[in-house]
Amino acid sequence: MATDGLDYDLRLRLAAFGWLSEQQARGVSEFDRVMLCHGFEFEGERVPLVDWAGKGIRNPRRLRSTLSIRTTTKGTYPDTGVDIADDEFEYHYQARSTEGDNTKLRRAYELGDPLIYFHGIRSGWSVPLYPVYVIADDPAAKVFTIDLSRVEQYDEFDPTGFDDLRRYAPSTSLRRLHQPVFRAVVMHAYENQCSVCRLRHPELLDAAHIVRDRDEHGFAHVTNGLALCKIHHAAYDRDLLGIRPDYHVAVNHRLLDEIDGPMLRHGLQEMHDTRLHLPRRRVDRPSAEGLAARWQEFTTANA
Ligand SMILES: [Zn+2]
Repeated sequence: MATDGLDYDLRLRLAAFGWLSEQQARGVSEFDRVMLCHGFEFEGERVPLVDWAGKGIRNPRRLRSTLSIRTTTKGTYPDTGVDIADDEFEYHYQARSTEGDNTKLRRAYELGDPLIYFHGIRSGWSVPLYPVYVIADDPAAKVFTIDLSRVEQYDEFDPTGFDDLRRYAPSTSLRRLHQPVFRAVVMHAYENQCSVCRLRHPELLDAAHIVRDRDEHGFAHVTNGLALCKIHHAAYDRDLLGIRPDYHVAVNHRLLDEIDGPMLRHGLQEMHDTRLHLPRRRVDRPSAEGLAARWQEFTTANA
């Protein structure tokens, strides 16, 4: 990584983004407080990513401005309707923070420094969104405005593109912000298991949309999601595999008649007519409406 010429501050930020992306590539879709307090190793030192004492802001002593902020939610279960559809949100000055904390967040605003936002999805657990920027400070109302429009998908995060990250600049394209949060709530509901074959390797699993994402109804709610392994996700998206509204798997009839190796036989043909592995909680299960709409597409494509 060509970051040798950068100052300590920016190097540390990029390393933090890189570490989070690495964890997500390994299949971690949500982070607990202990893991974030433990943090990561940077230039011989351990750097916690959130505050040990539980403050909603993390200001490492050696950094000129804030490294991360977080919001929390109380429930045991994910707030599946999390609304981060907006490009920005208001972050209140922390009551428990010292004035120094707010000063460092104000520095991030003045310098256009990129930071991490830990979006709380249930008690003690959050999803990291980065880079985010402070774009306004209102001392009278005691709020900062945080911009989310430049958040990258973890698998698109490119530390060599750091010049883009150094300073806040308005984004031209609307990013699919909800994806990391959607993934986290779906993986949690399905207990990191493919709902078709039960494969339990999160790094090989996707959070698939039932009503497709490009569709305006393809919303990021757990009831529009399915945890699927890469193969079953691809087959589902290409209408080679369908999910009936009664939660049973259907395999394309041409595929059923083919003769080929073990992947086709065990991975696809044998899944035909098996029952979907569903989330334990009823409210997390796929919506009947969404499944019916998607099933219609499958039957049309396979007529
Ligand atoms: Zn599978």
